[in-house]
This record gives sequence, C-alpha cells and structure tokens, in this order.
Amino acid sequence: MLYKSQLESLSLEVLLFIARQLDYLSLVRLAATSKRFSCLTEDDMLFKELLFLHYGVSYKAPDETWRKQYENKWSDTSGRRICPHLSNVTDDILLEKAQTIKAAQENKVHCSRCSMSQFPNLCLIMERVENDVVCPRCLSEFMDERKTQKSNYGIYLDMNSCKLRCFLCSMRRTSLGEFGSDRSEQYKCEEILQVLLAGSDRGKEKLHLILKRKREKAMYVGQQEELASADFKNLPYNLIDAHWMATFHLFIYGEYPSPGRITNRSLTKRNGSVIPGLKLYGEDAALVTRTFWNYLAEEYGVEGKSITEDDLTGTDYKALRQKITKMKRKMCDRAKDEGRKNLMY
Ligand SMILES: [Zn+2]
Ligand SMILES: [Zn+2]
Repeated sequence: MLYKSQLESLSLEVLLFIARQLDYLSLVRLAATSKRFSCLTEDDMLFKELLFLHYGVSYKAPDETWRKQYENKWSDTSGRRICPHLSNVTDDILLEKAQTIKAAQENKVHCSRCSMSQFPNLCLIMERVENDVVCPRCLSEFMDERKTQKSNYGIYLDMNSCKLRCFLCSMRRTSLGEFGSDRSEQYKCEEILQVLLAGSDRGKEKLHLILKRKREKAMYVGQQEELASADFKNLPYNLIDAHWMATFHLFIYGEYPSPGRITNRSLTKRNGSVIPGLKLYGEDAALVTRTFWNYLAEEYGVEGKSITEDDLTGTDYKALRQKITKMKRKMCDRAKDEGRKNLMY
C-alpha cells in the first residue's frame, strides 16, 4: 500500500501513468485530494489520450477542451450522441474520398460491386477498401461482413441525401450529426461533409487546415531528424516563446485552432535585448532548429524579433548560454532515442 506522502513524491511521468489506468471519477477524486495531483486534471492533452483510450473518440468541437469532451462522452451512456467511429475518418481518408466523389459525380458511376444501381443512389464507404462505392444492397452485405470482423469502421455517406451514417452504432436510427446528437458530433460531421462535397468556404478552409497540419507535422518530425543527426554544440538555433510553442503543439497534435503570430516580444526587454534570466524547458522560451524557425517565422509571422546565438554574446548571457547548451544536448539525445525506438517498431 502506498501512502499519500509517497504518492506525492512520484514524478509527473509516473503520476500520468497511474492516471491512465483510472476511470474519470477516480481521476477527478484523486486530483481533488492535493495540489500535487491537481496538475493531472489540468493537463488537457491527458484527457485527449484518455478519451481515445476509454472511448475511441478523437474529435471535439474546436471551442471545447478535451476534458469537457471527455465529460460529454462519459455522460453519453446510451451512445446515441457521440459516435466514436467518426474518429476513424482520418484526414487522409477524407482527402481520398473527396476525389472518389468528384469522379463518381463526373462519370455517373454504377455500384462497384454489382453494377446495378447508378449514381446518386449509392453509398460511399468511408474506409480504405476496394470497391467503396456501393448500392444499399451491397452495403448491407458489406456491413454484415464487417460486423463479424469486429471492425472499428462503420461510417458511410449516403450519396443521395448527402448524410453520414454509422452501421456500428446500432442504436442510431437517424443520420449522424442530426438533432439530438452532441455539438461535437454535429461539428465533426459538418466538417467531413464540407470537405467531401467541397465547394463551400468552410470546406475549403478545413481542407487548407488539414494540409497545413499535415505539412507542419512533417516539419516537426523533420526537426527531430535534424536533431538526431546533429552535433549539438554547433547546431544553429532560435529561441521561441514557450507559450506560443505550446499552442503550436496543440494545433498539430490536439486538433486545436491554428496559432497566431509568434509572440517573441515576451523574451526581450523594451530596448530589444534578450532577457538574461529566461527560463527554458517550456517556461519562458523553447529551442527550435534554425530550419524549423525559418519555416515558422515565414508561415506565422513574428511579433518581436528573431533570437539566435548571436543575440546571446557577452557575460550577461553566460548562464543562459550554458542552459541552452545543456538543453540542446538533451534535445539531440532524445531525438536519437526516438529515432532508435521508431526503428524498432
Ligand atoms: Zn450493388
Ligand atoms: Zn458509430
């Protein structure tokens, strides 16, 4: 048995590990017992993880937190308000299916399995399968097949009514995102439809966002690769506002909205010189490679200035330079480790 004082001295990583094993009520109760544990319920990305782990849901309305969405799903006991299977309609699938629909409209296709029914009396299976444009009869055969395979994919588009349905949520008589469903589900469905059926401004905007997120995830991964092969001592770097970096993370990994201009003004004094006492490790400033910085600065714009090693010369910055060297080494080591792990899987 662990005593509370022992629990309190555990590292955040261990606490998070414990939190992942708990259900929602136990987690909230634990968080209420002490200040140390309260940090658990403040970590919104933890709720994103738990929501997926416990319910298989990976979407939310953009103006909600993951914690709120977790509560929404937790209270959706009948399973009629938030369909988890919509989570499997990934951006990549969405982009592919938009092409399929365009082609089906232009070529007036028939059912790809039995060739009987013609567009638009067809359904589009929102999963990577052969012959995904099917008539209702072929769809029900496909559904039976999939149900016995215990698949997690159940979403299809009725091309006639342009509505999304799920054949795994058996309690749902109506289309997804309709009256009575949760706001997050309505939002998710709207987004999917707008991309699929393109044309609308919001659809184009969403499409743009999907591509941007994809590109920036790749840039981020690219930075890790650069770090993994770099000599940390001579690695050119930039300092970036840690809070801005956190919102960027939430954007690429957390489905949050895209951040605004980079707020580097918080890292300098009025006269433009860098504040010597800056804290690293996500508190005031974070470190990025020059390549990554150039991309971010170009894409987002900078409020304040671009801060490089050249701004940190002189004795005032000796301590900060030392902290940065340490941090660079840590980042490079971590990237090498990650690279090794990725090779293993
Ligand atoms: Zn058919
Ligand atoms: Zn479903």
